[in-house]
Amino acid sequence: MPSVERYVYFFGNGRADGSAAMRDILGGKGAGLAEMANLGLPVPPGFTISAKLCITYLEEGTFPAALRAEVDRHLKHLERVTKKGFGDARNPLLVSVRSGAAVSMPGMMETILNLGLNDQTVEGLIAGSKNPRFAYDSYRRFVQMYGDVVFDLGKLKENPFEEALARAKARRKAKRDIDLPTDDLKALVQEFKTIVLTETGRTFPDDPHQQLWDAIEAVFKSWNTRRAKDYRALHNIPDSLGTAVNIVTMVYGNMGDDCGTGVAFTRDCSTGERVLNGDLLTNAQGEDVVSGARTPEPIAKMKRGKLAKIYRELERLATKLEKHFKDVQDVEFTFEHGQLYMLQTRRAQRAGLAAVRIAVEMVQEGLITEDEAVQRIPPQDLDQLFHPMVDPRASVTVLAKGLPASPGAATGEVVFDADEAEALKKRGHDVILVRPETSPEDFHGIVAARAVLTARGGMTSHAAVVARGMGKTCVVGAKDIDVDPSAGRFRVNGRAIKRGQVITVDGTTGRVILGAAKLVSPKVGKEYGRLMEWADARRRLRVRANADIPADARRAREFGAEGIGLCRTEHMFFEGDRITLMREMIVASDEAGRRRALAKLLPIQRHDFEGIFEAMGGLPVTIRLLDPPLHEFLPHTREEIAPLAKRLKVPAAQLERIVHSLVEANPMLGHRGCRLGITYPEITEMQAQAIFEAACHVVGRGSKVAVEIMVPLVADVRELVNQTAIIRRVAQEVFHREGRAVPYLVGTMIELPRAALTADEIAKEAEFFSFGTNDLTQTTFGLSRDDAGRFLPFYVEHGLLSEDPFQCIDQAGVGKLIEMAVKLGRSTRRDLKVGICGEHGGEPSSVKFCHRTGMNYVSCSPFRLPIARLAAAQAALEEAGVVNRTRATV
Ligand code: ADP
Ligand code: MG
Ligand code: MG
Repeated sequence: MPSVERYVYFFGNGRADGSAAMRDILGGKGAGLAEMANLGLPVPPGFTISAKLCITYLEEGTFPAALRAEVDRHLKHLERVTKKGFGDARNPLLVSVRSGAAVSMPGMMETILNLGLNDQTVEGLIAGSKNPRFAYDSYRRFVQMYGDVVFDLGKLKENPFEEALARAKARRKAKRDIDLPTDDLKALVQEFKTIVLTETGRTFPDDPHQQLWDAIEAVFKSWNTRRAKDYRALHNIPDSLGTAVNIVTMVYGNMGDDCGTGVAFTRDCSTGERVLNGDLLTNAQGEDVVSGARTPEPIAKMKRGKLAKIYRELERLATKLEKHFKDVQDVEFTFEHGQLYMLQTRRAQRAGLAAVRIAVEMVQEGLITEDEAVQRIPPQDLDQLFHPMVDPRASVTVLAKGLPASPGAATGEVVFDADEAEALKKRGHDVILVRPETSPEDFHGIVAARAVLTARGGMTSHAAVVARGMGKTCVVGAKDIDVDPSAGRFRVNGRAIKRGQVITVDGTTGRVILGAAKLVSPKVGKEYGRLMEWADARRRLRVRANADIPADARRAREFGAEGIGLCRTEHMFFEGDRITLMREMIVASDEAGRRRALAKLLPIQRHDFEGIFEAMGGLPVTIRLLDPPLHEFLPHTREEIAPLAKRLKVPAAQLERIVHSLVEANPMLGHRGCRLGITYPEITEMQAQAIFEAACHVVGRGSKVAVEIMVPLVADVRELVNQTAIIRRVAQEVFHREGRAVPYLVGTMIELPRAALTADEIAKEAEFFSFGTNDLTQTTFGLSRDDAGRFLPFYVEHGLLSEDPFQCIDQAGVGKLIEMAVKLGRSTRRDLKVGICGEHGGEPSSVKFCHRTGMNYVSCSPFRLPIARLAAAQAALEEAGVVNRTRATV
């Protein structure tokens, strides 16, 4: 390292060497302290040791030679500023040694308070404060925290300090540690030092300088504790950041009842209301509030009585900080007699609802611009706005945790079977469908249930995708539960939950809760509408919804859909009697038999399409022709086959043979997609006829339609030519019969690498492309989404993949294919319309990617439309180079 590099930065007395812009060096805490000092806020003076030293220290085990001199120089300066001496027995300077990385990791690393105390300096503290109890309370805290952090005794399951403290309190029947008499506190200090000696064989250091250096090293080391590492892994925080160390002059909230400490938010972070709020403890030090040692009171209590002046001062400083950072702050403060000190400020975490209200109100207050409001809200957070949630204040018994597949919360009776779910629902029960995993046959059960819970499956498993599409609460992959549908129970951590028992599923957090947790429904305020207006005015990408039935289509429009990007016709076939007709078609031995069954399906499909066209009022509707392998429609067990055989009037053995003959080794790559319509053209004919007749009827009733027919799983242009010919021929026939024509487009899904590679050829035939990124991801990676649960989480955890490619588009691989296909397609058809209809269409980073590739629209489930709209607006702002200033603040 060059000798010019600076390691230490001073702050205090209205000025600081650093600023909020230097988070990387000072960490969030240090940057906040520096910025507050620069603003003239009452920050106890101190200095910050650069986070850049952390990783080198951890790797080499030593500090650069220059550091000692630099710290000594700053310590001298601190003594001058505070007019106290470090280790001075008459007038001791005490400090806190605090961790703080560039990204906030609350409570993950270490802090030590009251450092500099020993048997001599404690006398000086007594003399200066005339308060021996306070002095020994501080000393006791210091030895305990130092023992926990530097001597690493905090890791013990049964903390020996806490136990000694509890014994002392029990002897005196004291509720709180501050109620202990001075002599007891004094005795505890000695007892604590003895604990250190017996546990570690080392003596507690008296020399303040040794205390300081050992503490600095311990704080650096706390970067690599297990919990800190886990937290970083979970939140994608790079291990290379390191933590800074802040040395801060102590201020005392534990000198009496006119002293105290607290945490405050400048606005309410669950509702967004503009009101200062938070927690307070009088006669306490900072760590008491977070540790839960004592139950704090709301700071609103300070408004009246002795602390009113402090409260007004806190309010004034909170407003000043908000104005400065242009965002809600989460602050830590301590007051010592009449003087208030600010010890920390950072950007406050907030719920989705609060985020929207705060951003919109800050625009109205003139604090931020509309652009900034649109940019600062994480699109994903909008998800929370529309679903009931478990009351954050409710105390609950968590049975298990799975993946939060579809947000919201719901309570109901446990059922293990889709039919039973449906039957109970009809009788007015609220049910939760619990399955080892779900398949398309459970669809009606999912519809009937208030929530779905599965033991297996990932975020994109069937249950997850379906539930999300319906805006239905869902938790998948709850590994700890062991579902036994035939026994009518599931086991979890030693408990058995039986059919009919009530549980609550929290799809926002992934929790499975015993009994009925209190649910609250967040209200979508007028602020949401305002924010979306701003977003819509800024985005270039259009947004469409994936919707299969008229009710979904109507809901989609409420959420701002500008069309339907994917209407899956097969979902229409799973309901009620339809599946029987479908099965009749599948098991027919010849074309004539198939045509007979299809003729019965025709009016049903036509009716569904009419409903959807009407709901969409002339907005484009993309209908995908039949896609799944036929086997998915058939029953699999003997018990299910027998009654079906009866209904279809074929011998059971014959039906069993047919079912068997349709089994494929790898159905995902088998007889499905356009391969069905090519080998059974009558299916495509029937579907095209239903679509065009529906369109003509709706137009006949005075509405508009914009039909887009989409051919799935095309690998070669000749497949599309084949299907297009059928569709166009049927269109002519229908138009001729109906005496009117409707506008329509024929296009294809791009969901196989070969289609992407030959997109120029395909675009000669296709009038639009829609990227089916679920299948495109499966086929590009050569991995099956339904089987990926065994290893994909491992990959993500160990950095073999940075994200689940089924959640965020893999831009480096799949994304490259997409970009290429868009370019190739438009090279042969300049006005080619391009969109995406995979699950990714509602995921912010993927939406932004789609914007950059020049797509026309994204399509996603109705509930994710607000996310897509906001992400699209952010993409446009990013492209225009409007910087998101709000991210840069602490
Ligand atoms: P964390 O990052 O876990 O919040 P902090 O470094 O902020 O840890 O410190 C923990 C508590 O100690 C906080 O409540 C803080 O207000 C308090 N504290 C830290 N430094 C001082 C100090 N110099 N004087 C008084 N209290 C302090
Ligand atoms: Mg803190
Ligand atoms: Mg597909």
